[in-house]
Amino acid sequence: MRANQLDNCRICGTLFLKDYTDYCLDCYKKIEQDFKVVNDFLKIEANRFANIQEVSRSTEISVRQIADFIRDGRIYADDFANLGYPCKHCGKVIKRQILCDDCYKDFSAEIDATMKNDKFLEETGRKRVRPKVNAQYWKIR
Ligand SMILES: [Zn+2]
Ligand SMILES: [Zn+2]
Repeated sequence: MRANQLDNCRICGTLFLKDYTDYCLDCYKKIEQDFKVVNDFLKIEANRFANIQEVSRSTEISVRQIADFIRDGRIYADDFANLGYPCKHCGKVIKRQILCDDCYKDFSAEIDATMKNDKFLEETGRKRVRPKVNAQYWKIR
């Protein structure tokens, strides 16, 4: 049984009956329309090397929306040499996830090192009680 529930549209804030999407019908239609425009634009041979800014300029659809299509896998960026969106960390153009490979490697290495370090300190009984990074926020509350 599916519980019908009211929710605010993620785009325009209108209250709507949440069914299959996070958007109200109007915004959903608009997104589908935008998708068709971007998709049609990229089907044209001459546009295959456009980057996301050029696609946005030509289609008048926001870079953010186009990036969403790519991230959702609706537009397969691997087919287009220059199409992608910026890595959240360094800004390099990527085609999936939110970090580029290099940043992802750095990021996981850092996590790995932190965990290993903690484990080492624990095992040797030298784990110091460090002030938590978010201690200040707790105080404010
Ligand atoms: Zn809406
Ligand atoms: Zn990066």
